[in-house]
Amino acid sequence: MSRIVYVNGDYVPEEEARVSVFDRGFLFADGVYEVSSVLDGKLVDNAGHLARLERSLRELKMAAPCANDQITAIQKELIARNDLSEGVVYLQITRGAADRDFNFPKDATPSLVMFTQEKTILNNPSATKGLTVVTLPDIRWHRRDIKTVQLLASSLAKQTAKDQGADDAWLVEDGFVTEGTSNNAFIVTDDGKIVTRQLSNDILHGITRRAVLKCAEAAGLTLIERPFTPDEAYEAREAFSTSASAFVMPVVKIDGRILGNGVPGPVTQKLRELYIAEAKATAV
Ligand code: PMP
Repeated sequence: MSRIVYVNGDYVPEEEARVSVFDRGFLFADGVYEVSSVLDGKLVDNAGHLARLERSLRELKMAAPCANDQITAIQKELIARNDLSEGVVYLQITRGAADRDFNFPKDATPSLVMFTQEKTILNNPSATKGLTVVTLPDIRWHRRDIKTVQLLASSLAKQTAKDQGADDAWLVEDGFVTEGTSNNAFIVTDDGKIVTRQLSNDILHGITRRAVLKCAEAAGLTLIERPFTPDEAYEAREAFSTSASAFVMPVVKIDGRILGNGVPGPVTQKLRELYIAEAKATAV
């Protein structure tokens, strides 16, 4: 069934959705995006995603096409028109269409595109089974804190992982894990401490990461924000990743080393439960 998507002011069937070949998103990956999850037809932590969107736009000196409350209205309209119960709403803003030139155009109008995707988030079988990951070099640019649409390095890494029979890749720079291809990476050490890399330009400031850290703190768990090595991850009791589209996802194997008993661990499962409860309670 065809979705209704939003393109620069219009709600159209997906087959009719068009942007210009001169759009700078297409020519330069000159665009930013956000993905908000939807549970029971409601948006999860959307204010956090829109705040990060504003920051991404600011860092790239890109104009917003409209105010955040208008974006939220469009998100809700798309959820309603597509009868979306569980899944995600994707939104992308680019600097707009202008004749190809490296310098920013003076008079381009930013472009806004949004669409929904149905997705099983709560009963995702991977949450029960756990993911296998491989580590790969992090070849991305140095402003990973900005959520740009230039995702080729992550896409290549994810495909390489798949070709090696794994579900995902954790990226490594200077001997330390930065994050997953599309998620933040965590380990639980042998003495039960939760370790994840601290915020900087090296990683995306995950909205789910922040919420999960809050849940962990409220549950009295010990958190340490610091980089960790693949060797530490191999020795970890548990590992998991976080993202808006998968929530808390257990990792049970890294570079062929089985973690713990090879099944999702208790800390990971607890955090997934706590996060789901929080997401359901606060979705709007
Ligand atoms: N890191 C990267 C590189 C990502 O692409 C994502 C998800 N888009 C995340 C982390 C997780 O961020 P969030 O929890 O906001 O989805």
